[in-house]
Amino acid sequence: MSRNLELFERGKKTIPGGVNSPVRAFGSVGGTPRFVKKALGAHFWDADDKQYIDYIGSWGPAIVGHAHPTVIKAVQDVAVDGLSFGAPTEAEIEIAEEICKLLPSVEQVRLVSSGTEATMSAIRLARGFTGRDAIVKFEGCYHGHSDSLLVKAGSGLLTFGNPSSGGVPADFTKHTLVLEYNNVEQLERTFREIGEQIACVILEPIAGNMNLIKPSAEFVHALRALTEKHGTVLIYDEVMTGFRVDLGCAQALHGVKPDLTTLGKVIGGGMPLAAFGGRADIMGCISPLGNVYQAGTLSGNPVAVAAGLTTLKLIQEPGFHATLSRRTARLAQGLAEAAKEAGVSMVTDSVGGMFGIYFCDAVPTSYAQVTASDRERFNRFFHAMLDEGVYLAPSAYEAGFVSIAHTDEIIEQTIAAARRALARI
Ligand code: PMP
Repeated sequence: MSRNLELFERGKKTIPGGVNSPVRAFGSVGGTPRFVKKALGAHFWDADDKQYIDYIGSWGPAIVGHAHPTVIKAVQDVAVDGLSFGAPTEAEIEIAEEICKLLPSVEQVRLVSSGTEATMSAIRLARGFTGRDAIVKFEGCYHGHSDSLLVKAGSGLLTFGNPSSGGVPADFTKHTLVLEYNNVEQLERTFREIGEQIACVILEPIAGNMNLIKPSAEFVHALRALTEKHGTVLIYDEVMTGFRVDLGCAQALHGVKPDLTTLGKVIGGGMPLAAFGGRADIMGCISPLGNVYQAGTLSGNPVAVAAGLTTLKLIQEPGFHATLSRRTARLAQGLAEAAKEAGVSMVTDSVGGMFGIYFCDAVPTSYAQVTASDRERFNRFFHAMLDEGVYLAPSAYEAGFVSIAHTDEIIEQTIAAARRALARI
């Protein structure tokens, strides 16, 4: 029996589904999850010692590649001085300064330990600041698993065909309005009718939890104009896109200044670290300055901050994002060409270090289009690639992630593998 299967069977006895986060279970693609033994650069090795080129990268954080020696050293250096204090440290100020320097929209920032906490806190803050209850999110966008956001969500909820979670009382979500991504007309109508009641709009500025879906320029600018006009807080949830699509994040690509931004993944460099920040007048409502409560035993954890700060410095090396974008674009282009050669209806797209693979004829721009893609064929492609030693997200509804450790050669190897895989599906 394969060691992966052995571990899966053993894990299922004490861990629900054998995994600690749903999409890891291969529930929609079928088969046995790969248990990771170690990872280095663009690769990881599973429990059977098989090597894979990894296009998940811990679902985004591993932008400089796995186990980058500088990051590992920083973590080792601080760990010997203690793992957590529950009192402030200088490094927390340093990472806050770094984030504020890189994001002009962020004047103040609070550190938390997960993207879920960041978005949950940002929403509470927006409600506290405006004194309003209603919030707007978009169909297919995932903002973590806090109650009020588990409505028509993407990621694992979409993958498992259950976009709104059980265990969430209707009372908790009655203030959550779900609109269509990229539907400007619906957005305008909503603000015309109830704009004054909306505390905030939370947006995945480039959606990565329903595969990769880009917003139109018209949509993001309408959103900024409408929220500003109605005194609604605009939250850019850049947990996934932050420092991955550009050094200035998606907001720099859009030329939009949101009121609040949530960050995670890359800013923790693989450790549990996330953040929310933005306008100082809004952030001033957070406890201990204001009456909106938010706290965390491990917030600003020194080991996590060391990994994050080091990662943030590494991605500021000249040409980092240009190289990452160029390689990701080449991957996307190469995969699309391979599909064309094989006569398979599959297209691709990319932005910065994120890419999408869609089993349909044109790049989707909406939830409806993306969910109409050929899921069965994606599943066959996923497994064919896995056999070839390429690890893609085990879902047709997740974006892929490239790191700077994915060299031109590794990208070409991946395209060659896809050519062989596509010929078989
Ligand atoms: N927001 C976005 C856009 C995300 O992609 C995610 C996680 N994939 C989250 C929030 C939640 O982050 P976490 O899993 O760290 O709680």
